[in-house]
Amino acid sequence: MTRIASISVDLDSLPHYCRIHGLPESLLDARARSLVHQVAVPRFRELWDALGVPGTFFAIGEDLESDPVAAGMRAAHEAGIEVASHSHAHDYALTRRGPDAILADLRRADDAILQATGARPVGFRAPGYTLNADLYAATQALGYQYGSSAFPAAPYYAAKAAVMGALALVGRPSRSVLDTPRVLLAPRAPYRPDPANPYRRGTGSVLELPMAVTPALRFPFIGTFATTLPLRSLRGAWRACRRDPFFNFELHGVDVLDATDGIPGELVRQQRDLRVGAARKLERLREIFGWLRSECDVVTLRDAARRLSASV
Ligand SMILES: [Zn+2]
Repeated sequence: MTRIASISVDLDSLPHYCRIHGLPESLLDARARSLVHQVAVPRFRELWDALGVPGTFFAIGEDLESDPVAAGMRAAHEAGIEVASHSHAHDYALTRRGPDAILADLRRADDAILQATGARPVGFRAPGYTLNADLYAATQALGYQYGSSAFPAAPYYAAKAAVMGALALVGRPSRSVLDTPRVLLAPRAPYRPDPANPYRRGTGSVLELPMAVTPALRFPFIGTFATTLPLRSLRGAWRACRRDPFFNFELHGVDVLDATDGIPGELVRQQRDLRVGAARKLERLREIFGWLRSECDVVTLRDAARRLSASV
């Protein structure tokens, strides 16, 4: 059976990074605010086009209130790229807001994406990758086909990620940063969650597609590492996953940006991967996306969920 791989990009815009690092959003001029959508999105689209593979963008609903951003997402959708939901406000504490507020946030994001692209999203990724029963219930209520929020990485690498400035795991106010350790025992392979404890297997209707971590060591194969670690390490991690029928490669818009794109120095100092040149990062991603394409069928997460749902 051919292996499946998906490439997805969380479109967290720079104001969200300011919030992570406790910097004032007033640091950002209009250009910096729109960098992820105006510069990173076209760069990812070029990468995918050059390789002839599709991708998935996880868009934040409130960002779509700007006309150019909405137009960019519509163009991506029309080109066969999936636009999925990354919530409306990207609230890192979303899981603690209670069922009604959570459902309202997700519904707003759906409406914003529908209005921008003409299609309702069928997939969801939680802000900060944090899932709980209330949030999972909302994804079921909205009838999503899949969620892709579980990031079952080992604590050692979480610590290492902190040192390296990996956005995914660090710098949020400490009360939000610590997800339940149960996530570390979450399955690595696609699974149907237990609605009461979505990091465990059960019979939930929304398929969970965890982000790629290697077997045993649970080293996270994510954009921040892919663009900053030695190629040899990446190749080793990729080979370690060779028996996995599905490979879910998660990145962020900033993974193809650098300081010269117009990101304020204060933010670059906090976010070390922004010091690596965008050209180098793009070159690296071209190579890694090439590995995926040569060994897997590269599809959107929506298509991966469709194919996997029969067997999971
Ligand atoms: Zn995010």
